[in-house]
Amino acid sequence: MPELPEVHTLLEELKNEKIIGQSIIKANVYWPRSIAIPTVEEFSKIILNKKILGLSRRGKYLIINLNDNYDLMIHLRMSGRLILSTNEPEELTYIRLSLILNDSRQLNFHDTRKFGRCYLVKSNSNFFEKLGPEPLDSTFTPSLLQKMLQKKSRGLKPLLLDQSFIAGLGNIYVDEALWDAKLHPLRKSNTLSKNEVTQLHTSIQHVLNRGLQSGGTTLGTGRSNFYRLSGEKGNHQSLLKVFRQTGKECPRCNHIIERIKVAQRSTHICRNCQKI
Ligand SMILES: [Zn+2]
Repeated sequence: MPELPEVHTLLEELKNEKIIGQSIIKANVYWPRSIAIPTVEEFSKIILNKKILGLSRRGKYLIINLNDNYDLMIHLRMSGRLILSTNEPEELTYIRLSLILNDSRQLNFHDTRKFGRCYLVKSNSNFFEKLGPEPLDSTFTPSLLQKMLQKKSRGLKPLLLDQSFIAGLGNIYVDEALWDAKLHPLRKSNTLSKNEVTQLHTSIQHVLNRGLQSGGTTLGTGRSNFYRLSGEKGNHQSLLKVFRQTGKECPRCNHIIERIKVAQRSTHICRNCQKI
């Protein structure tokens, strides 16, 4: 499931492919429910001849800035992918949306499980008002994290997965960050010492940067996995310390890594390193 590093990888690749400056001359919607806002009819009408002015990211949303003050937000959810091709894809089965650019390339939204969503909204809408801070932003400091954690009395894992608390983290990077910080996923957020908060802050940024630098995490070989724009896998899976490493030895203390359930999510921990 794509998280901040995977979405950011796609963002950088789209920038490198120089889609900024292109116009969208046609949109083919193959699965209407992939368009969350507005209706498919309105979407197809509004998006026509819009020029791509910029690309950005907020949390797990990829944002395509368009002229006339519109933004197209893409959330990949479980299995969404973006594929940029020079001609019509041979296999349309999993393509939910195609945006045809004026240089005849196509930006295709490929989504096997169909949970991914596109939102075409006015740029000044308060679309992101409920989203928490960006964990790699310079304004996200250890003291801010301390204040945020103090206000809540929730288990660390469910809290870090909550996009209104902090944006962009999901199951992979939360497990990795908590292991790196030697914190148990069920530890209550307002019981952390100042040193533990500082360590958690460092660990969150460390695992996200590691994911970014290695082009994201591709967990298997199926169609539903994360792939880069080029179709290549990311490389971060070989650097995972605990996520889906059940039964292997903890790289720090050699205890066996276990899988437990926290907030209905598979969670991977070393009980020796991460005591509650
Ligand atoms: Zn350990």
